[in-house]
Amino acid sequence: MDSVAAEKPMCSAKGCRADAEWVLAWNNPKVHTPERRKTWLACEEHREHLSKFLGVRGFLKDVVPLAEWHSDSPA
Ligand SMILES: [Zn+2]
Repeated sequence: MDSVAAEKPMCSAKGCRADAEWVLAWNNPKVHTPERRKTWLACEEHREHLSKFLGVRGFLKDVVPLAEWHSDSPA
């Protein structure tokens, strides 16, 4: 998933169809330029799981509540 602009944001966790509550911004330095941000969406339940998945790889940059992500234009 590349965008959080979907009409009804849904959790990115496999098999989960819950409404997203969080935006996880990440970057894989091997394939992305440093300023590039990929985003995953997470429900409350999967926020920690997905954060850890990205965190252990050193990819995770930011975890932002979905509401704030929308009001805040990403740099
Ligand atoms: Zn979920």
